Amino acid sequence: MMKAVQIIKPGEVKLIELPEPKPQFGEVLIRNRFVSLCGSDLNTYLGRNPLVKFPVIPGHEISGVIEELGEGVPEHIEEGSSCTVIPYTNCGCCHACRNRRPNACQYNQTLGVQRDGGLCEYIVAPWQKVIVDDDMGYRELALVEPLSVGFHAVERAKVIDNEIVMVIGCGVVGVGAILRSLQRGAIVVAVDVEPYKLSYVHRLGAQFDINTRSEDINALMQKIAPNGVDVVIEAAGRPETYRMAIEHVAFTGRVVYISYASEEVSFATKDFVMKELDIRGSRNALPEDFHAVIKCMMRRGREWHTLAGTLYSIVSVKDALENWKNKPGKVFRPMIMF
Ligand SMILES: [Zn+2]
Ligand SMILES: [Zn+2]
Repeated sequence: MMKAVQIIKPGEVKLIELPEPKPQFGEVLIRNRFVSLCGSDLNTYLGRNPLVKFPVIPGHEISGVIEELGEGVPEHIEEGSSCTVIPYTNCGCCHACRNRRPNACQYNQTLGVQRDGGLCEYIVAPWQKVIVDDDMGYRELALVEPLSVGFHAVERAKVIDNEIVMVIGCGVVGVGAILRSLQRGAIVVAVDVEPYKLSYVHRLGAQFDINTRSEDINALMQKIAPNGVDVVIEAAGRPETYRMAIEHVAFTGRVVYISYASEEVSFATKDFVMKELDIRGSRNALPEDFHAVIKCMMRRGREWHTLAGTLYSIVSVKDALENWKNKPGKVFRPMIMF
């Protein structure tokens, strides 16, 4: 038997026992080491995640050790290796899949959202979804997925060198967008309301940071980029940040939205036309984004423990969620340690 954490209904967390899964043909059995909690897991706990059916085992940002292989798993995957998991599915035949954009599969089922997730001692995954890396630590591996979502947005925005990129929202996904933009040679303007997060992205290399709670973004942007920025990546998910993106992008610029805003957003649409904007969505990430994140994290060394926030054990998941709910600005990611 194994332990698992179930959210029974909003606000109610239960530790349960389940049979250990067995790897079938083509599957890999993983013993989880770290699961980092995502904003979507917090929303599930708060009853604000419309995609979830209760009860559900949350968690999709996983690292672990490969414990057993089913038949038909190729040789490059070995028992005892460290890994992370691509937590999405792709049907292979919907419009997105046929357009080779499986990250946006119409029938995607993300672990811990549309199906049970990783907050348990063992999971099985098809080998195609397992990314092996024996050089990275487990805490870092559990951060690869959310960072890759930010990387993917920069790919969607087609950022090139010397462009000015504004990233609104400096959670882990926003941090991913900042890192990838810097790698592409862009100048980054980071926007958030938490000094703790802004000082972290400043240390990572963001050239400008603006705290919209204590500073006047319009006045500052007049100095930084009076004509507006080339690209805005929105990773905060509020109506005002959705509109902020349109306001601060230059004529003929690009706007990429990653976050789901839970409320409806109204726009004065004339800027869409007058500025002749490219407005794009960005959903999940592709395997190449995962691999790019791993390379980037390895190259930059060990500055990731700030992101891996506070550690909790499997028996204190409720505390982790409650503390995060009460102080969202002080924690990038609570991590559950096995
Ligand atoms: Zn996530
Ligand atoms: Zn599909």
